[in-house]
Amino acid sequence: MPQRSDAEATTTHADVSAAAVAEAAAWLRAGGLVAFPTETVYGLGADATQPEAVARIFEAKGRPRFNPLIAHVADTETARAHAAFDSRADALAAAFWPGPLTLVLPRSAHCGVAKLASAGLPSLAVRVPAHPVAQRLLRALGRPVVAPSANASGRLSPTTAEHVRHSLGARVDMILDGGPCAVGVESTILDLTRTPAVILRHGGISREALAEVIGAPEDATAAPADRPSAPGQLASHYAPGLPLRLNAREVRPDEGLLAFGADEPGGAALTHNLSPAGDLREAAANLFAHLHALDRPDLAGIAVVPIPAEGLGAAINDRLRRAAAPRPASSGGT
Ligand code: AMP
Ligand code: MG
Repeated sequence: MPQRSDAEATTTHADVSAAAVAEAAAWLRAGGLVAFPTETVYGLGADATQPEAVARIFEAKGRPRFNPLIAHVADTETARAHAAFDSRADALAAAFWPGPLTLVLPRSAHCGVAKLASAGLPSLAVRVPAHPVAQRLLRALGRPVVAPSANASGRLSPTTAEHVRHSLGARVDMILDGGPCAVGVESTILDLTRTPAVILRHGGISREALAEVIGAPEDATAAPADRPSAPGQLASHYAPGLPLRLNAREVRPDEGLLAFGADEPGGAALTHNLSPAGDLREAAANLFAHLHALDRPDLAGIAVVPIPAEGLGAAINDRLRRAAAPRPASSGGT
């Protein structure tokens, strides 16, 4: 990792130097966090291909739960490597990228984005930002960057580097100061895993503009009476097919075991340990991959050992509790 020095950690001029972009890419490559400007707000970026770097985002923001993150890429070609495009996605990308439109697409067979970034879902939210500093950073890294807004959980979205410094300060390895963002316009999020397409969030690209390209999308944010989709279809959280048994201290021979730390109960049909060393960041990075690996029809259920509640443990426990909660048979998630 490059050495952190407070004098150099933050660029102070609106015109970001090539050296600053190269240093930011080096931080990302080393698994660090870099705040950078997009045309919407400042993003808190991590290399999307490194699960532990993605886990650091949730840690730095103090988010109590794992929600899926948007993967930012430099161009449509890169997006195609990680997500499966259909003809609607082709047309929308041609019309609106780079720009404030996020497409939710099936993850491609060779998707390199960490499962934690999709919160375990089979879909990926992807966007090509237009901001020149974001573009330069993505090209310098040559990998997708996941980036929610660069503020502590529950705080206002930052539109200047100074906001980021106040909100996250020492929890960010570097801030690229590209001056103030165009305020207040988030990206529109459009779910293309379904037909017709569904607007999940309104933002910089209007419903009318989308309709001109692919026909009228549905609107998941509309009042329920105007919303044709069943609630279960709107599920945006992964839930395993098998029942989960939390806080298990012993395991049955027909169960899979999700373990944590050095002392794992013996006797399971199959065991995956989130972090034998007891490291919560490593555990978060492994959570969805391990749940998927244990979610097998030849097992009767998944036993989960107690996970500490501090730090990232809060988000891990939140996800496990929701995965364990009873759910309607018709619903795809919780
Ligand atoms: P932000 O924190 O502003 O970057 O917001 C990201 C938004 O994208 C959240 O509302 C997520 O729920 C949504 N999102 C990201 N990935 C997906 C996905 N695969 N499916 C549905 N929504 C997603
Ligand atoms: Mg936010």
